Amino acid sequence: MNRDQPHDLGGSELQDMDPETFRRYGHEVIDWITEYLRTPERYPVLARVQPGEVKAGLPEAYPEEPELMSQILEDFERVIMPGITHWNHPAFFAYFSITGSGPGILGELLAAALNVNGMLWKTSPAVTELEEVSLDWLRQMLGLPAHLRGIIMDTASMASMVAIAAAREAVDVDIRRRGMAGRDDLPTLCMYTSEQAHSSIEKGAIALGIGQENVRKISTDGEFRMDPRALQAAIEADRAAGRRPFFVAATIGTTSTTSIDPVPAIAEISGQYGLWLHVDGAYGGTAAIVPEMRYVLAGCDHAASIVVNPHKWLFTPIDCSAFYVRDPEILKRAFSLVPEYLKTGEDDVTNFMDWGVQLGRRFRALKLWMVMRYFGHAGLAARIRHHIELARAFAGWVDRTRDFERLAPAPFSTICFRTHPEGIDDEATLDRLNAALMDTVNSTGEIYISHTRLNGKFTLRLAIGNLRTDERYVGRAWELLQIEARRLVPEIVA
Ligand code: PLP
Repeated sequence: MNRDQPHDLGGSELQDMDPETFRRYGHEVIDWITEYLRTPERYPVLARVQPGEVKAGLPEAYPEEPELMSQILEDFERVIMPGITHWNHPAFFAYFSITGSGPGILGELLAAALNVNGMLWKTSPAVTELEEVSLDWLRQMLGLPAHLRGIIMDTASMASMVAIAAAREAVDVDIRRRGMAGRDDLPTLCMYTSEQAHSSIEKGAIALGIGQENVRKISTDGEFRMDPRALQAAIEADRAAGRRPFFVAATIGTTSTTSIDPVPAIAEISGQYGLWLHVDGAYGGTAAIVPEMRYVLAGCDHAASIVVNPHKWLFTPIDCSAFYVRDPEILKRAFSLVPEYLKTGEDDVTNFMDWGVQLGRRFRALKLWMVMRYFGHAGLAARIRHHIELARAFAGWVDRTRDFERLAPAPFSTICFRTHPEGIDDEATLDRLNAALMDTVNSTGEIYISHTRLNGKFTLRLAIGNLRTDERYVGRAWELLQIEARRLVPEIVA
């Protein structure tokens, strides 16, 4: 008898799910996903559970004994599904609408099956090399310069924080070794971004000890774009006060309005003062895949770093954020720390653990690679173009309707608007009316939109980014908004 056979060692009971059970439930789960993705609109887009309801449906005590997969899957449908807000729903228009895709899901599945850790080149050479190749393909598709090198991060928030850390390292004030606390020799480091920038930029400053009060929120123009003259004035003021400007974050597609900061002018100022220019293109950057949208990345060839999110608007399941840097050596100076147990013999390889904080790394490149190959550049561009066209149509309806108004330009696929019925000009009433309108249409379960505040006004946002969204759903959203707005006016005004 071969004593090495796990079975003979009594191993089967101590091992994983057996292959035939895996196959059976694997097929079942793929069938379930297929039907779910065929018609996610059969669910209310916004989960209807009350806080605590999902928890209440689960036992407080952990499972002591093994349970059947069939039972676990039943509970998934019964307890978990009602607590899901359906980002796959074709009428999910809130925040930035995102979408996975068939090839992306299959990539995730294979990555989970391989379960490799790409911390070092050696720990799975294909993880590192596919990441390098797929990010270079994406760079080419976006028309970004060849000197940029990419790494996949979990989120744009993490990428921007790493960019700030690299910029801080580039200042050469020995923070890596000596820290920032209790140092009389250390100038106050200041960074700059617009008042419309995503909160992740400020969070990065919090995490890295820059301090919120050293983040200058530069004012924006009438179209919510950073004002370069205000930027320059803020830098000058900090320099005159003995502080040390070091980092500027420009945004392509700000979160509230999707405005595009004037990156060429900002790059010139950053260059003049020797500041690290980071471009946050988390949402808007991927639009440059469409040849006629390439203009949105103008000026990025001067950036020290740029982030775009395939998990937002490039059909790649969350999470997958593409972070590009001009000089990876600075990332390594900031982060590389190689203990004996992680040393390997190769010289000419990339060990991505050296480029940031995390050691263990998922095989995220696989899904991105599959998405890019399956759709091709042409297919990706056509889909993003379609979303932009749908948004243009919606913006046109708003513009042409007397009781509605647009509150910001819509360069991508997100529209900021509100209802403003004739004869109602009190801003507090309009705020109440629009907040009620959002809650009402969202409570139908048919659509999901979100809001922001622009120039003090409660603003509705409709964002298009899902592969299942088409004219019918955008048209229905518009119809519902008009019907409910008309119905609510007497209620709110009374
Ligand atoms: N930057 C911008 C402009 C965003 O709109 C967002 C999220 O919507 C982020 C950064 C944060 O993205 P992530 O969730 O990948 O951290």
